[in-house]
Amino acid sequence: MPKKPFPSVKQLQKDAQSYIWHPFTQMQEWEQHPPLLINRGKGTFLYDVDGNTYLDGTSSIWVNIHGHRHPTIDGAIRKQLTQIAHTTLLGLSHPLSIQLAKSLVHLAPPGLRKVFFSDNGSTAVEIALKMAIQYWQQCSSPQPRKIEFIHLSAAYHGDTVGSMSLSGNGLFQKPFSSLLFSGRQQIEAPFCYRCPLNLQFPQCQMACIDPLESILKEKHEEIAAVIVEPMVQGVAGLIPSPPGYLQRIRELCRRYHVLFIADEVATGFGRTGRMFACEHESVIPDIMAIAKGMTGGYLPLAATLTTEDIYSAFLGEFDESKTFFHGHSYTGNPLGCAAALANLSIFKTERTLTKVQRRIPKLAVLLQTLSTDPWVGDIRQCGYMVGIELVQDPHTKKPFPLSHRIGHHVTLAARALGLLIRPIGNTLILMPPLSTSLKELKQMIDIIKVAIPLVRASHNSKNP
Ligand SMILES: *Cc1c(COP(=O)(O)O)cnc(C)c1O
Repeated sequence: MPKKPFPSVKQLQKDAQSYIWHPFTQMQEWEQHPPLLINRGKGTFLYDVDGNTYLDGTSSIWVNIHGHRHPTIDGAIRKQLTQIAHTTLLGLSHPLSIQLAKSLVHLAPPGLRKVFFSDNGSTAVEIALKMAIQYWQQCSSPQPRKIEFIHLSAAYHGDTVGSMSLSGNGLFQKPFSSLLFSGRQQIEAPFCYRCPLNLQFPQCQMACIDPLESILKEKHEEIAAVIVEPMVQGVAGLIPSPPGYLQRIRELCRRYHVLFIADEVATGFGRTGRMFACEHESVIPDIMAIAKGMTGGYLPLAATLTTEDIYSAFLGEFDESKTFFHGHSYTGNPLGCAAALANLSIFKTERTLTKVQRRIPKLAVLLQTLSTDPWVGDIRQCGYMVGIELVQDPHTKKPFPLSHRIGHHVTLAARALGLLIRPIGNTLILMPPLSTSLKELKQMIDIIKVAIPLVRASHNSKNP
């Protein structure tokens, strides 16, 4: 039996509604239902305070890698606690941050040689933007006019003002339009499924990249960098890019003298089947942002990696003011570094990538069994990242009005059946920990297979 929490569950649920403001949550709706209280986890499973069991279908929002309560990471954090919980990288250093930086450089695409630590994906991206801007002012042939960025129209790079400025200008940004910086060019990157011209890959020859090339041709003297989520756009609804797309962007950036920033915050640490998604197309970015899976989903830690060339543009006498003036209180936190090193060591000891690569095609087969459902309009997979898009009609792909909240209702039905997932609009996002076994993957898919018809039955009875 799980230990009964004190204060009581009732009291906690009451206090939850009195005191907490949840992220990306309409609190008026939230307050109408007592929240689900998770207080334990093990492997792929989460347990609520009443002892009910759930599969963690989101990797606790895209962060967990080797499962919960992994003894190696648990042990590494405990061990570090016997030394020190936190010391700073401002003016000092500590062994684990050094070891971690070295390990990351060895793992990262070759050429990325310097590691700047921070705490989360948004700051890792923010740092990439600031590095790029300052680089062009200080590099050997300075080009201070290079102050604009190019991003994809449906991109998501974080919630801080800078990273938000380079994300798709959707719902999330509307209230903040006055804050967003103006130096940005957006290119439509609908990718294949969303292609408005209905062009077929490969015959289309990636026509969606042409607008990027024309902007670069015309404005490269003002463009500091292009930023992309390599191989797959996550928050956009899990939209994979066509083969060769990433490499083509990399080449264009090189040709037009523009930095290439890879936002590997979601894709990093094995999520797509390779350690970093850039590896799928042997792409080497100038700057790479990593966060989510970095500590195996244990602690907030992030990093921005860059090349010797960019780093060296920041070297000089103190009064030349070439210093990169940026840093956070918890930069390089030792507990986080301990977790991250343990995370990396498990990739070796458990041969995580080999196992995941073997399971990815099997996951694809399992997903295919969903395709006969009349609401499943599209299944998009990139490794262990899956988007299942629900539509009114699988032939016309007519979407449900967002107000019907079909995705939300299916996730509630799945929860009652023992699977926690979170939708993006009407796309169900399935992103299991890399340690999830084939049997557990099958359980997840089987639950979704039951949850969708349950919601359909109640939807049809309300909308005859
Ligand atoms: C989640 C995410 C971010 C932001 O990371 P946070 O840690 O939530 O700030 C940035 N980029 C991508 C691609 C992401 O998926």
